[in-house]
Amino acid sequence: MKTDIQIAQEATPQDIREIAAQLNLTEDDLDLYGKYKAKVSTEHVKKAKEGKKAKLILTTAINPTPAGEGKTTTTIGVADALSYLGKKTIVALREPSLGPVFGVKGGAAGGGYAQVIPMEDINLHFTGDIHAIGTANNLLAALIDNHIQQGNKLGIDNRKITWRRAMDMNDRQLRNMVNGMGGKGNGVPREDGFDITVASEVMAAFCLATDLKDLKERLGRMVVAYTRDDQPITANDLNAQGALTALLKDALKPNLVQTLEGTPAFIHGGPFANIAHGCNSLAATQTAMHFADYVVTEAGFGADLGAEKFIDIKCRQAGIQPDAVMVVATVRALKSHGGVKKADLNEENLEALKKGIPNLMKHVENMTNVFGLPVVVAINRFPLDTEAELAMVREACQAQGVNVALSEVWAKGGKGGVEVAEEVLRLIEENDGSNFKYAYDVEAPIAKKIEAIATKIYGADSIQLSPAAEKEIAKLEKLGFGNLPICMAKSQYSLSDDPTKIGRPEGFTVAVRQVKVSAGAGFIVALTGDIMTMPGLPKVPSAEMIDVDEDGMIQGLF
Ligand code: ADP
Ligand code: MG
Repeated sequence: MKTDIQIAQEATPQDIREIAAQLNLTEDDLDLYGKYKAKVSTEHVKKAKEGKKAKLILTTAINPTPAGEGKTTTTIGVADALSYLGKKTIVALREPSLGPVFGVKGGAAGGGYAQVIPMEDINLHFTGDIHAIGTANNLLAALIDNHIQQGNKLGIDNRKITWRRAMDMNDRQLRNMVNGMGGKGNGVPREDGFDITVASEVMAAFCLATDLKDLKERLGRMVVAYTRDDQPITANDLNAQGALTALLKDALKPNLVQTLEGTPAFIHGGPFANIAHGCNSLAATQTAMHFADYVVTEAGFGADLGAEKFIDIKCRQAGIQPDAVMVVATVRALKSHGGVKKADLNEENLEALKKGIPNLMKHVENMTNVFGLPVVVAINRFPLDTEAELAMVREACQAQGVNVALSEVWAKGGKGGVEVAEEVLRLIEENDGSNFKYAYDVEAPIAKKIEAIATKIYGADSIQLSPAAEKEIAKLEKLGFGNLPICMAKSQYSLSDDPTKIGRPEGFTVAVRQVKVSAGAGFIVALTGDIMTMPGLPKVPSAEMIDVDEDGMIQGLF
């Protein structure tokens, strides 16, 4: 069997100008980054805000498991299937962070015969957007500490600096540190730390910005610290907004690449799916919706986190809505939700599969009942799935009146996604979108909004706020942040806030440890449990397998 990178390297990519031509974009509309990558000009991003709206198809999934689900693969494959059926389609995805590429997860450019190319470039630096975002983040950090060093006119309490430094690497060594040491001329000593760049609020603000002007306003609003009497200090207070935006002017243009089958793909922005909202930039989504008739896009993690935030944060802000939702499930992941250990997933196990299916059903119910959206379950077929197992998932869906289709895009490319694509087209045809609603009213009090998500989406009985969270909520409401949407930071592995509660847990309470405002992104983050914003590397990092030969050919990426 060929590896992902072998398949990608054997493909003959089209010149990116030919891909752009499918969208009626000429060379003048592009900033070329070599032969196979381009950015779409600012002018087109601006125009796209008003233009024609494509049908929007959201890919989401059951709660992630160690077995892997294949959302990105399915998103790409179904976009190729729509192209194959003659539909003008664009796929819109996040940019991979280097942290996971060198860590456990590997790349994020799809898999098998459903990939975006050039996968090596997309996975390694790409067009430099993430570096630009990290640089903007760190310029702001430098400005904060310099302000304190130069006399601290704003009265920043250096124990209440919430802004952290950022780097696009998994490096646990940098999580917590003391810096500014070495005496008077070398800064003011304080506790500090690094987050991975994709966890920076700059990334979240960048991904929700509609244009450069909006981006500058968002960056200016970011709260970086508090004074001794708890007054927020923003990037605007430090006069940082202009320089930060200047660093991001090219980054904000969506990146155009192609799938293995020549479907145009926008790969742009990649915010964390826990402390941020976990989907590609709004600039890319809107531009894609302007230039295509169908846009297929992915939200990170399971539908309880990714799809909920996609709808309640991004769609609400942009005034868009999905026309259909694909909930990706695999036999392996469902068996995992039924309690099977990773090492035993290759064996047929109908009993465990049956036990895991309720996790899928809960996500389908949420999309249908809470958000009023038409859904199809896409069963992403893995090589060792048995016919009996595949039939069981299909029948379980049919028994509940849930639309279901088999996806074989990993093995067959777009042709393997025709069953799902046809179902998606049928759903779009039959639905006028009038049942669409959000999970909560954005004007409700912060605690009520968190409760609505926990009870309706997660299936919790109630929420429990820590005293610190209650105090912070009162403070944020007083400061005028009460009407922002909620960005839940929760374990992705469970519908609950406890990663060990797999399947469809019931009778639980969601404990909210802390809340914080991301005023530039425009949401309140509610933290349950400990959320890692700077991952570490595993015992054997995938970096050890990655190599490049003397001709520049990359090996070992997956
Ligand atoms: P997600 O977006 O849900 O994290 P990806 O689409 O990135 O998942 O897939 C994760 C990994 O699983 C990739 O390495 C991909 O090649 C692999 N994969 C996905 N679907 C299949 C499949 N049907 N058969 C085998 N491997 C698959
Ligand atoms: Mg993915």
